Amino acid sequence: MAGILRTRRRLSARRRARVALSLAVMTGAADGSLYTSTESSAAPAYPQDPNNCNDSSIMWRFETNSGWTKNGVDRRPWVRAAINTLDDARDYNGSPLVSVTEHASIGVEVQVKDKPMNQYGSAECVSGASFWVNGNYTSSKFYWHVARHEMMHLMGAEHGGNIDSKNGDNPPTMMTCKDWSTFRSVNTLAQDDAAYLNWLHSGRDYRQLHANYGWEQGTSYWGKTAGALSYKSSGGSLGPGYAAWQAPTGNDYLYQTVAVHTGDDNESYRAITAAKSLSPDYKTAVRPALYRRNIAHQSSNSCEYADGVGNPNDYSVTSGWVLVAQPSSTVVGTGWTGVQSAFSNPANAMGYEMQVRIYGVAVPNSGGATGYIGIDNSRGDGT
Ligand SMILES: [Zn+2]
Repeated sequence: MAGILRTRRRLSARRRARVALSLAVMTGAADGSLYTSTESSAAPAYPQDPNNCNDSSIMWRFETNSGWTKNGVDRRPWVRAAINTLDDARDYNGSPLVSVTEHASIGVEVQVKDKPMNQYGSAECVSGASFWVNGNYTSSKFYWHVARHEMMHLMGAEHGGNIDSKNGDNPPTMMTCKDWSTFRSVNTLAQDDAAYLNWLHSGRDYRQLHANYGWEQGTSYWGKTAGALSYKSSGGSLGPGYAAWQAPTGNDYLYQTVAVHTGDDNESYRAITAAKSLSPDYKTAVRPALYRRNIAHQSSNSCEYADGVGNPNDYSVTSGWVLVAQPSSTVVGTGWTGVQSAFSNPANAMGYEMQVRIYGVAVPNSGGATGYIGIDNSRGDGT
């Protein structure tokens, strides 16, 4: 099969100095994914080195020409709606991770161009940031994906895989090298989009691996082995939201899995959470743990990936769950308490499925059912 399309790249000496990136797909590219999983929550986000754009606050405007309306269809509302979804991802304290503001005359210029049908769009931030999308399409989902993709490039995102961590389908925004027919038919952030924005722009120390780790978007993206789990909209550790969970036993856990394609990076990771007992009538012990499964890439697809990443559209899991790091189980009182492991450097792999697990149980002081634990700011993070 033929290769992918060219990318305009003017600065390439340093790995982190990537400035011009494109979403380009060869028409009729084979669907290369061999990935199957019985996990409810597993697959690829793309936390890794940011490119050189890496801006969390962007003013933008439509290029003022008449090309946005073609065959009676104005594509601007779809582009605008796609960009605006980037405000939905929340940092640990409930603040938007990024800010995108449309302005009439200043900011990133968003252009529409008549390009060959297999060039979908391109972004650059060399001499004034801009991006363009291909105007030869009439489907809303094309513009939802491409506009969000190019804007995320300007926010520092590199290309990821085509399988979202949440459910094994629904290609996330930074997927590349697939035909536009595979794009999602809804204009919302995927789990990997939210995880990646956390990784790039969270205000906490280190690089956050997981989405909605501050529980500011309800219980989205989180799973549980058992027990009642609910979202509390006030009283959190550093922001309003947190989770209240009634674990039946100390072997139960909350979990979230995000695949991280690390390529030639070699980072250290840890598990971290805040927790508290929701009643003084219980002895509450909590332990965050970070587990990994190694990822191998099966083949090259000649598309553009950073940091030595092979083909994240075609990966397989090559190990069972292996513990990366966990602290001792820690008893917490009725005030928010941080519990975290040391950093640990796992054996090299092309990537990992990183699963953070929050273990905890509230044992009643005088018998009866287990109680509720408050959980907040729960994630793996990396160096
Ligand atoms: Zn791209």
